[in-house]
Amino acid sequence: MEVPFLSFSAQNQLVAEESKNVFAKFFDSQFYVSGKMTHDFEHDYAKYNQVKYAVGISNGLDALHISLRVLGIGPGDEVIVPSNTYIATALAVEMAGAKVVFAEPDVLTYNISPSSIEKAITKKTKAIMPVHLYGQACEMDKIMEIANANNLFVIEDNAQAHSATFNGKMTGSFGHVNATSFYPTKNIGAYGEAGAITTNSEELAIACKVWRNYGSEKRYYNMEKGYNNRIDELQAGLLSVKLKYIEKWTKQRQEIALQYLKNLKGIENLILPEIAEKSTHVYHLFVVRTLERRDELQSYLENNGVKTVIHYPIPPHLQKAYEPNGFKKGDFPLAEELAKSSLSLPLYPGLQPAQVDYVSDQLIKFFK
Ligand SMILES: *Cc1c(COP(=O)(O)O)cnc(C)c1O
Repeated sequence: MEVPFLSFSAQNQLVAEESKNVFAKFFDSQFYVSGKMTHDFEHDYAKYNQVKYAVGISNGLDALHISLRVLGIGPGDEVIVPSNTYIATALAVEMAGAKVVFAEPDVLTYNISPSSIEKAITKKTKAIMPVHLYGQACEMDKIMEIANANNLFVIEDNAQAHSATFNGKMTGSFGHVNATSFYPTKNIGAYGEAGAITTNSEELAIACKVWRNYGSEKRYYNMEKGYNNRIDELQAGLLSVKLKYIEKWTKQRQEIALQYLKNLKGIENLILPEIAEKSTHVYHLFVVRTLERRDELQSYLENNGVKTVIHYPIPPHLQKAYEPNGFKKGDFPLAEELAKSSLSLPLYPGLQPAQVDYVSDQLIKFFK
């Protein structure tokens, strides 16, 4: 049996008709940037995400960057970021001219640990950027408590966790401004680049709109040296279609994860994802760990038709790009161990129960 790591076929089939209609409407509208589709998507996404405002942005990295900008974070400031995140979170801080300070994750959930955040706080700290990694909500009660006690901003990186909740509340609705991505592989994926910022502050929402549009609110009057970070009008229209199916797709992801968890329970040397008490997990990725034999496991699965991916093979502080920052091996041992032991199994809406059983059987055979 061949099991791809990811396939869009099932999702595409479901939205094909509606999406083609959106394209036809877009094409005929003769309005190709910042039109009705952007406006409607922002309205729909804000409502869905239980926030007052959503601002469509060109992509997730730009959404993180603008989030920092509107909070006035820049040179001389420090921002706390998880040591095991996808590099975009850290790069956004550098783009804003601030200093990245890494904090280690919780060893069970892989999400930034509140106690390591507390240790990383200095006089220069301005913000915490929790990442709901792999689709599981961070412990937002503790993180907000730490932020409030130390007068810090919170910017959630919600790129991997559309639909996840903490204590019944949506991720992307806790922080002062929050960023997300609609990169095609994300749980709500565009057909190209797209992202968004969510916030409950009208002032910050307006500021985001100014920064994404050359620093201008009124045409040809520029208040900031801004950027062109507008969301693509067509992507916004297509995303409005996908938004209607996200609950259904999230449920499918959770059912597949449950099947994996049942099948793989009790295998010695295989660590399965764990969920914190008040968090939900939307399984953007289903990441298992094995301490000694990860690469061997990956080739074994590959040889048996199962495609897997490593998220992520090198933590940000050990990337070549971060050499100038002066980090060294051993600075963040947990992030380094996760990089060596993690492996993501196939999981996407449309993956069949028989395929999940097949993948599970290969893992069981490998560890026997
Ligand atoms: C995908 C991702 C981003 C960046 O999103 P883009 O749209 O690719 O720029 C940022 N943070 C995390 C955690 C991501 O997974």
